[in-house]
Amino acid sequence: MDVVVVGAGQAGLQVAASLRDHGHDGRVVLLGAEDDAPYQRPPLSKHYLGGPGGSRSVALRGPAWFAEHGIDLRTGARVSAIDRAARSVRLADGTAVGYDHLVLALGARPRRLPVPGADLAGVVTLRSLPDADALRLALARDVLDVVVIGAGFLGLELAAAARTLGHTVTVVERAAAVLPGALSAPTADALAAAHRQQGTTLLLDRRVEGFLGRDGAVRAVQLADGTRLAADLVVVAVGAVPRTGLARAAGLAVGDGAPAGVEGVEGVEVDAALTTTDPAIRAVGDCAAFPCPVGGARIRVESVQNAVDQARFVAASLLGTAAGPTYSDLPWFWTSQHGLTVQIAGRAAGRDRTRTLGDPGSGRFSTLRFGDGVLRCVESVNRPAEHLAARRLLAAGTVVTAEVAGRADFALC
Ligand SMILES: Cc1cc2nc3c(=O)[nH]c(=O)nc-3n(C[C@H](O)[C@H](O)[C@H](O)COP(=O)(O)OP(=O)(O)OC[C@H]3O[C@@H](n4cnc5c(N)ncnc54)[C@H](O)[C@@H]3O)c2cc1C
Repeated sequence: MDVVVVGAGQAGLQVAASLRDHGHDGRVVLLGAEDDAPYQRPPLSKHYLGGPGGSRSVALRGPAWFAEHGIDLRTGARVSAIDRAARSVRLADGTAVGYDHLVLALGARPRRLPVPGADLAGVVTLRSLPDADALRLALARDVLDVVVIGAGFLGLELAAAARTLGHTVTVVERAAAVLPGALSAPTADALAAAHRQQGTTLLLDRRVEGFLGRDGAVRAVQLADGTRLAADLVVVAVGAVPRTGLARAAGLAVGDGAPAGVEGVEGVEVDAALTTTDPAIRAVGDCAAFPCPVGGARIRVESVQNAVDQARFVAASLLGTAAGPTYSDLPWFWTSQHGLTVQIAGRAAGRDRTRTLGDPGSGRFSTLRFGDGVLRCVESVNRPAEHLAARRLLAAGTVVTAEVAGRADFALC
């Protein structure tokens, strides 16, 4: 069986590695558009920005590993088309690569802000290693006025890294709170307080009208309320858009995006076994819109856990060794900012009831989130043992009602 994986990121690399782990001895071809071998993205918005750089420090595997495992890694190899009838993909240079099974692990690209001045020098986004290297070099120069647009995970991590390096940092967010929709109020408030305490200015409920420049380079950010912020560097961190063009052009079902405020139905549509509308093609990671194991609504998740666990499932499923017929791993996520490590187990929906264990003022606490009266998600701040306990509890499907969790003697571990 020949397996071709398009996309040599976190998910694509894991599909290839897991195929070998499960004993697959057929051909495995890993095609990546980037010039770098597969690397980790999480450090790029964190310590990488203040470090010496270099692809080795973030590489997912050493250079010898691919040959040792018989994985045909081709970097700088962008796939331009899928010929489903012939079961082959075509590279931009015209080469065709045949497959028995194809896995799409195409990832996502940064969303752009459609405002005047968005193409000025010094207005940047962060997704790739070259993006991070450019940012790292910019932040290593003089003290800068850095404006980060978007107070999501990426924006806040970047803001923390830039502030730690001594820059003047302002974060502009359209919503009234940081991490809108992603975190409960106690956790989001703790992160916001840490940023303010470290001297970052958070401007919430503000809209960017455009970027102003001189000699082609950004100099200021214009807000809709008339505020003008001095800026030497603007990082736009307003979300990511799944890469779906290849799948769409091949006639696979692709979600077109959700109405404002509804998360994630944009992406390559897959069923619960992560199979696209072509049984020979799977999709995993940031690009895949899959049915949520709880509730069944189609979701898309951008996290290392999701990329790795979906990749492992697909590899096992292709080889007939998966534990079950459908992907149902518990989502978990982490972020690290200004000494606060937030770990999230499970998935919450909207504005559910919460209960906090511990004192948020101490910088160590967990917030329990309930949906339909049952525990769905636990956000732990500097409480790794509670995070692990929550993961075990939720993954086992243990039902913890809000009533039980509300008792004074309730503890996760
Ligand atoms: C800066 C940053 C920080 C992050 N921090 C965290 C964190 O702290 N915790 C966490 O859980 N997650 C974090 N994430 C998210 C996490 O990195 C992603 O969810 C994960 O990388 C998704 O893996 P993927 O393989 O689906 O996509 P990617 O890693 O993006 O890989 C997709 C690859 O496919 C390639 N590709 C696309 N189209 C083609 C084509 N036509 N032909 C060939 N190749 C193609 C792309 O070039 C890319 O290399 C972060 C992401 C970023 C950008």
